[in-house]
Amino acid sequence: MRKRVFSGARPTGRQHLGNYLGAIRNYVKLQDEYDCVYCIVDLHALTTFEDTGKLKENVREMMLDWLAAGLDPERSILFVQSHVPEVTELFTLFGMLTPLSWLLRVPAFKEKARHQPHNVNYGLVGYPVLMTADVSLYKAEVIPVGEDQVPHLELAREIVRRFNAQFGPVFPEPTPKLTEYPLVVGLDGALKMSKSYNNQIDICATVEETERRVSTAVTDPARRYRNDPGHPEVCNVYSLHRHFSGPKLEEIAGQCRGAHIGCVECKRLLAKGINEALAPFREKRAELAARPGLVDEVIAGGARRARVIARETILEVKDKMGLPILK
Ligand code: SF4
Repeated sequence: MRKRVFSGARPTGRQHLGNYLGAIRNYVKLQDEYDCVYCIVDLHALTTFEDTGKLKENVREMMLDWLAAGLDPERSILFVQSHVPEVTELFTLFGMLTPLSWLLRVPAFKEKARHQPHNVNYGLVGYPVLMTADVSLYKAEVIPVGEDQVPHLELAREIVRRFNAQFGPVFPEPTPKLTEYPLVVGLDGALKMSKSYNNQIDICATVEETERRVSTAVTDPARRYRNDPGHPEVCNVYSLHRHFSGPKLEEIAGQCRGAHIGCVECKRLLAKGINEALAPFREKRAELAARPGLVDEVIAGGARRARVIARETILEVKDKMGLPILK
């Protein structure tokens, strides 16, 4: 029996290099070792989205990227959170056990409440409860997280412990699988790569789009002229070279420091590296996109498989909690 991994990602649409290097590559690898459940968490998105007009399209584009990158619907369960309504039941049931004080002290809640003071909704404060329901519905034991997310998982573990102590053992305590999520800085050289900052390079971008986007990247601010020596260690373009220019990395750093290469040329090399690395992915994506109905089939199949597990868990939970079961 392989252990079960659960991970959820918000429906942000076409995935960018930050998503790819930070999460997707890891998702793909985990499939070799674990029984993986990967979910596009559209309900979570509602806690902060005010405009849902693009939600459906975002889900499809994201699933297409996942599939083209190597997530395999035969091996993993790939589905959309709202297609498994049992998660909202478990969310409600866990909500009855979770003291409000636990939720109000969560740093991410405080930050979001500061960020969107006009929309501090019930879902926002209950976010960790829904997250616990996501994980527990599938009795997942292993959760890939970055160091900064460990405290969030600790809250999930507390909720699960409380349930198990009060009603008997049903859920495994989810344990973090510490994963290195490289922080990918956006083209502005300042903020994390994100669609909301428009500083991203989409992995499915064309060769030309990639070249254009890379050409706008901010570089070492101290290197104002072509003959100025550069400082690759503070340059954002160089930080992306680390992922795409492997064997040439040292050479590029030396050329930059000695002002033997200009930033325009350096960016051209980076774009070339990205385009070469992503060529097989892009080819696969185009092939999958040309198959009508494929994404819908994958999503429907994932929901069917997820619901089999979810129904079983919900029945067990209700029974343990003493709720009458409809015969
Ligand atoms: S040459 Fe490359 S690494 Fe050096 S500052 Fe310019 S873009 Fe950055």
